[in-house]
Amino acid sequence: MICTLCPRHCAAVREADGGQGYCRMGTQAVVARVAPHLWEEPCISGTRGSGTVFFSGCPLGCAYCQNHSISHERQGKRVTDEELAALIENLEQAGVHNISFVTGTHFVPAILHALALHRPAVPTVWNTGGYESLETLELLKGHIDIYLPDLKHVSSRLGKVLCNAPDYFDVASAAILEMLRQTGAPVYAENGLLLRGTVIRHLVLPGCTGDSIRVLDWIAEKTPPETPVSIMRQYTPIPECAVKGMERRITDAEYDRVVEHALALGLNALTQEKESAETSFIPDFNMR
Ligand code: SF4
Repeated sequence: MICTLCPRHCAAVREADGGQGYCRMGTQAVVARVAPHLWEEPCISGTRGSGTVFFSGCPLGCAYCQNHSISHERQGKRVTDEELAALIENLEQAGVHNISFVTGTHFVPAILHALALHRPAVPTVWNTGGYESLETLELLKGHIDIYLPDLKHVSSRLGKVLCNAPDYFDVASAAILEMLRQTGAPVYAENGLLLRGTVIRHLVLPGCTGDSIRVLDWIAEKTPPETPVSIMRQYTPIPECAVKGMERRITDAEYDRVVEHALALGLNALTQEKESAETSFIPDFNMR
């Protein structure tokens, strides 16, 4: 295929087993981990976990990515659409609350085919860095119940330095408005689990609280007040990231400043305890 699936619009040739585009991935899905995941937001993980399918490769490729071994080094196992459908079915049978596709943008056709082969009875979740084109979101419409996008930063300088995407905010903010349009207001089960809706995630980065404030101001101005906004504190420096200033965790004061601003704006903020942030959130990628 000639690929324009993500906002990089490479128009690159992608064969089943390899590609020439920015993400370097072929069209056949490459999966790094398939397992119940207990460390998402409580309305997503519940007690039995979110059934996560982590895909290898990433069209955004943030320099500080916590999942560097799969997003940059592209570790994982290539699977057919039928095998992907079977993995989804097995996860569902394990009793998870939902099936969550993590960084699946570059494999949308394979994922949609797998969902046509096996559509789970539990909600489907699209866990994304937020860098999505409106055309690709249109393809997902009706197939995804819950969107879980990041909104990382407003500054085009940060977009350039951290993700090589100076247009990150323009693209991600438009994508989030489309996600909200597709899902509507959040719908919860009696046990508090999310059945449908869009949860915006924001990871507080070291030295970047001023930009976090701008992110929250945009959310308050442009999205409905009931929209859950998950403010994450688990940023963990990785040796592969050479960007100056990113070599430390965030401080308590930085996190508190961002949370206090979210509360002052009246956002439906989901926050993280410090202890949970000190736990390793980097999963063991188990597919080879
Ligand atoms: S998905 Fe990959 S090949 Fe396709 S446009 Fe994006 S970076 Fe390029």
